[in-house]
Amino acid sequence: MSEAHTNLNEASVASAEELAALRSLLQKFCAENIRPRVRELEDAGEFPRELYKELGELGAFGCIFPEEFGGSNMGFEALALVAEELAYAYPPVSASMNLQAATVPLMIKNWGRPEQINKYVSGLISGTVLGSSALTEPDGGTDLMGAMRTTAKRDGADYIINGSKMWITNANVADVVIVYCKTDTEAKHKGVSAFLVDTTTPGFEANRVKCLSLIHI
Ligand SMILES: Cc1cc2nc3c(=O)[nH]c(=O)nc-3n(C[C@H](O)[C@H](O)[C@H](O)COP(=O)(O)OP(=O)(O)OC[C@H]3O[C@@H](n4cnc5c(N)ncnc54)[C@H](O)[C@@H]3O)c2cc1C
Repeated sequence: MSEAHTNLNEASVASAEELAALRSLLQKFCAENIRPRVRELEDAGEFPRELYKELGELGAFGCIFPEEFGGSNMGFEALALVAEELAYAYPPVSASMNLQAATVPLMIKNWGRPEQINKYVSGLISGTVLGSSALTEPDGGTDLMGAMRTTAKRDGADYIINGSKMWITNANVADVVIVYCKTDTEAKHKGVSAFLVDTTTPGFEANRVKCLSLIHI
């Protein structure tokens, strides 16, 4: 059984013909289902959840995942091609597709517990579960680790997370968010841990930032 690709040095497993077929598929889908709807989507201002399901069904999010998760195992070149075609059709969808197609499911696939992998990975790449990744905080952008104030403290079998994040793409529509927290404030960047937070968890709150396009941050 093949493994999910974990870095850009791994060769793409898709042939030139397969990549060309994927590009044609994406171009046709975008021409029929996204480009004619851009004005409507912008005016509605609602997150187009159905569109993500359709893209998931098309296989747009499964390029770097093996078949066991519903992926196509085509590799990073195919993933870049999908991002390129979506960006040409409607940039906000491309800007957040990596959350469904790479960042969130890859993190869970590589470092999650078996029950987390079973619960989320296939759903994320099929577009039925929406993911988000929360690192940036209100008091710091580029200085991600230095500015991190969010903490996670053990409380029996649980962790209690306290803090705020900012500019988190799709946080207000996501079903699951990877939240980076300080678990050891003395250990600087080595004291940071990633928590998988189901957005139905009591205390979780996410508000949309008003911005110029449909992107949900
Ligand atoms: C549309 C959008 C979506 C985003 N989505 C997410 C998300 O999903 N999850 C998430 O965690 N974050 C997200 N972010 C946050 C993003 O990662 C931060 O914006 C980024 O880390 C930069 O921070 P900043 O914009 O505050 O820039 P700043 O940190 O204020 O930097 C401004 C400029 O100063 C430069 N600079 C900063 N520090 C130094 C230094 N020490 N020396 C020299 N130059 C320096 C930077 O290179 C930059 O050019 C998003 C941001 C945007 C705009």
